[in-house]
Amino acid sequence: TQSVYTFGGNADHSDPRQKDKTITGGKGANLAEMAGIGLPVPPGFTITTEECVRYLAEGADFSADLRAEVAAALAHIEKAVGKSFGDAADPLLVSVRSGARVSMPGMMDTVLNLGLNSETVEGLASASGDDRFAWDSYRRFIQMYSDVVLGLDHGLFEEALEIAKEDNGYFADTEMTADDWRKVVAEYTKIVEREQGKPFPQDVNEQLWGAIAAVFDSWDSDRAKVYRRLNGIPGDWGTAVNVQAMVFGNMGETSATGVAFTRDPSTGENAYYGEFLVNAQGEDVVAGIRTPQYLTKAAREKAGAQSPSMEEIMPEAYGELARVFDLLETHYKDMQDIEFTVQQGKLWMLQTRSGKRTAKAALRMAVDMVDEGLIDEKTAILRVDPMALDQLLHPTLDPDAPRNVLSKIGLPASPGAASGQIVLDSDKAEKLAEHGIAVILVRVETSPEDIHGMHAARGILTARGGMTSHAAVVARGMGRACVSGASDVSIRLADRTLRIGTTELKEGDIITLDGSTGEVMLGEVPTIEPELAGDFGILMEWADKHRRMKVRTNAETPADCRTARGFGAEGIGLCRTEHMFFDADRILHVRAMILADDEAGRRAALQNLLPAQRADFTEIFQTMAGLPCTIRLLDPPLHEFLPQGDAEFADLADKLGVGEDHLRRRAGELHEFNPMLGHRGCRLGITFPEIYEMQARAIFEAACDVTAEGGDPVVPEVMIPLVATKRELEILRKLVDEVAAQVFAEKGRTLDYLVGTMIELPRAALMAGEIAEEATFFSFGTNDLTQTTLGVSRDDAARFLAPYVEKGIYARDPFVSLDVDGVGQLVSLAVERGRATRPEIKLGICGEHGGDPASIAFCEETGLDYVSASPYRVPIARLAAAQAAL
Ligand code: ADP
Ligand code: MG
Ligand code: MG
Repeated sequence: TQSVYTFGGNADHSDPRQKDKTITGGKGANLAEMAGIGLPVPPGFTITTEECVRYLAEGADFSADLRAEVAAALAHIEKAVGKSFGDAADPLLVSVRSGARVSMPGMMDTVLNLGLNSETVEGLASASGDDRFAWDSYRRFIQMYSDVVLGLDHGLFEEALEIAKEDNGYFADTEMTADDWRKVVAEYTKIVEREQGKPFPQDVNEQLWGAIAAVFDSWDSDRAKVYRRLNGIPGDWGTAVNVQAMVFGNMGETSATGVAFTRDPSTGENAYYGEFLVNAQGEDVVAGIRTPQYLTKAAREKAGAQSPSMEEIMPEAYGELARVFDLLETHYKDMQDIEFTVQQGKLWMLQTRSGKRTAKAALRMAVDMVDEGLIDEKTAILRVDPMALDQLLHPTLDPDAPRNVLSKIGLPASPGAASGQIVLDSDKAEKLAEHGIAVILVRVETSPEDIHGMHAARGILTARGGMTSHAAVVARGMGRACVSGASDVSIRLADRTLRIGTTELKEGDIITLDGSTGEVMLGEVPTIEPELAGDFGILMEWADKHRRMKVRTNAETPADCRTARGFGAEGIGLCRTEHMFFDADRILHVRAMILADDEAGRRAALQNLLPAQRADFTEIFQTMAGLPCTIRLLDPPLHEFLPQGDAEFADLADKLGVGEDHLRRRAGELHEFNPMLGHRGCRLGITFPEIYEMQARAIFEAACDVTAEGGDPVVPEVMIPLVATKRELEILRKLVDEVAAQVFAEKGRTLDYLVGTMIELPRAALMAGEIAEEATFFSFGTNDLTQTTLGVSRDDAARFLAPYVEKGIYARDPFVSLDVDGVGQLVSLAVERGRATRPEIKLGICGEHGGDPASIAFCEETGLDYVSASPYRVPIARLAAAQAAL
């Protein structure tokens, strides 16, 4: 098969493999697509991801076939541009760019101006008639190539450049003359020779293959691996390589380079958004070396910026760009993130892709584009990443709270509010976050090496960089609050202190960021709940219209129930009753019950718990107003409720009026070697039926009372945990039925109710056909089902699961995303067998997986009736359920 595809010039873009991102990578596929619709794309070629995979597997060797295909493709560029690679009189220069299936920070940086050496630089100077430009390009090339391909420390080059500027008394790079650059090049060449013990490669083909190898190798770099792990990207995709004729944004005042979005990626507003730099190349914009200028006059005026916008100083190129924007949106039917260069007034497109956006912007664009007739409702639903909604569901700064603002000149790079301790490096941020400490990562600027620290931090503050800087792009993707380019932040790493505005601070001090305004405040500023109307409400309505499964919530307090209902929960899928046992007024009775010597003692203690349990259920039923509520009877091993430490034992002995020794002996008797598989779940109900009796009584009394108040009739769903056999359920169901009958007789009314079970043991899944004879509903407890099927304890898995995921043993953490291949089979089987016995059986999932979009898709396929998720995950589940149904 073909390994190299050409684009631009008169290339043929008809092979579908070329537009397939899995083959040519995102960048390569889109370059071909843009060239195909007639946009100005510098000619080039793409080496497929398949070649990368082969290269990495076969030990870093290039085949003769590949070399031949590359040579032919290079000839295509030469012909299209009318210059030859390595030509001493008028050389073709190229860029070498990585490009995986999805955009991936952490991959190799682009090498620009490749093809320059001590001869061709002279040719470039004479052919362009611009010495300064030629030597500027050459020094850029040496620096980039040395850093990226040769692996030399880029600090050495930066230092040399700083010295050169200082010697001349310059402030900016733009003050450097051709001669100055020539001297810098001489200095750079010396550095390379000294550092690697041999001269900078002069052979342009050696340069090219060196860069291609570096791109392939970067797929397996540590940075790339970290990024892949955090984002669930498989390690076997590989990256493509794009080699493309250079166009030059550094040819004087009529040249420029920039990045832009067809709509505002932060708010979603339908207005062009972007930044550019005159007389600059490539990464200058993103690197934050110079402050970029705005694209449009409106944006410049809104920001109150002085330097003119592109619209004002390059009206023609800007007009062309605007035309391209419209073409791209009509073609891709989505907001595009593009990179462009203007060479002496002519616009060139260097990249386009669907733009990353905040959740707020994603919603607004989806809703707007339906209004504009660009996409339909279903497409709009599919456009919004359910997990991204998380950003909108969390609190923002209370506008009325007092604020001590330290800085407000930073950019609102990624929305949301975050407070935490200042931390100045990423390793430390990660460490503190592991201990549950909220941190704000403060850096001059971030690089791919900071990914783990950014992930660990609540928010990110940088002193340099625009809205498209590394920090901004990555933070938006991760949903972290970010303020970038706050140039009044100065950091002194030596003594771990910093100044923000005029205030001196040190690492560990608390600050608050508002990523929606760019403000930085001292201390922790209070927050308020999010606004869920508007675009959010509209999209959710569409989602509700298109989904089949119901969405319930896992909640056990009235406050959680209210939050979940506000987020659209249609019932409770899991109300854990053990949480109710821990409250201050109850734990004493719970302990008295557990430590009692006999049934009579237990019953007496349970009698004291009954009113509190009944009150809990009453409030929950009132809050849920007739929506279905699944209540799980006591599940955890009893010893979890025991006193901890000497003080608690002494206190309890005192309160109960029994000896401490006696208590300790009883507690010792409850010790279990493996409580997860021990005396818990329905086994408690079998051995201590009085506990479940009390709980059932509390449920039915509350249900009768609430119904009697004239509300919607309550239909409680009583759920028995950890069932393995039909007989267990038969015994406990009878117990629940008896209590219900008693309560109904006492209250003089009957209510509908269900008794069902969790399916959370492999045996229960296998025996689901038989168990369904006793159960009117199944709820898949996929946390325990995953533990018991994999034989992995969730609480101990942290130590080995990350390496397992890294090595691809599990594609994702099976406690986060359901192991569809394994555990999923048990679920499907139980569904099938349960339905065979009882066709109308109600089926749901209540594990953590009920809020995970991939697992929700599985539930849809399997035909479950509902998923149940924690309150903040309810909107995510609603959207994911709709996406799964489409
Ligand atoms: P990244 O994936 O990090 O964005 P790119 O391969 O897109 O890396 O390259 C980064 C920047 O380098 C581009 O935005 C563009 O400004 C510049 N660049 C890449 N190729 C060329 C080229 N052929 N001519 C001019 N500039 C280029
Ligand atoms: Mg790019
Ligand atoms: Mg369980």
